[in-house]
Amino acid sequence: MTQNPASPTNKKISNYIMTIVVIVLALSVISIILAVSVYLTGTPTQSQADLTAGFLAIIGLVAMTMSLVTLFQSRRQAAEMKIEVPKVMTTIECKKCGTKTVREFQRGDYVYKDLDACPKCPDTKQIITAVYKEIKEKEKTYNV
Ligand SMILES: [Zn+2]
Repeated sequence: MTQNPASPTNKKISNYIMTIVVIVLALSVISIILAVSVYLTGTPTQSQADLTAGFLAIIGLVAMTMSLVTLFQSRRQAAEMKIEVPKVMTTIECKKCGTKTVREFQRGDYVYKDLDACPKCPDTKQIITAVYKEIKEKEKTYNV
């Protein structure tokens, strides 16, 4: 469980997105407040006030929609990333006695790689016979 190189980068990206979301949300709230106040106070002519108010309201709504969409998408992406982390497993076999061991994939593992001697038969080296992703419904084996 020590190797997870993707997670710090993901955290950085989501923090970055969160900052943007907060800024855009603040801007949208300000523009909506401005729109309402301009509409209520009224500038020189009523049509001008309506135009300003409408324009600001549109900016506010667009910004708010965009920020909400971004927030929703980043949350969904984070959820997907959490689910889709299949474990890679390595099967080790002894050629002589056929003892099978399954352990988590380690860097540098490949099929037919010689490993340490078998605990039962010290003169025989164990080899990796399979490297595969652990998928719940079916084990997909990448045999060479
Ligand atoms: Zn053995």
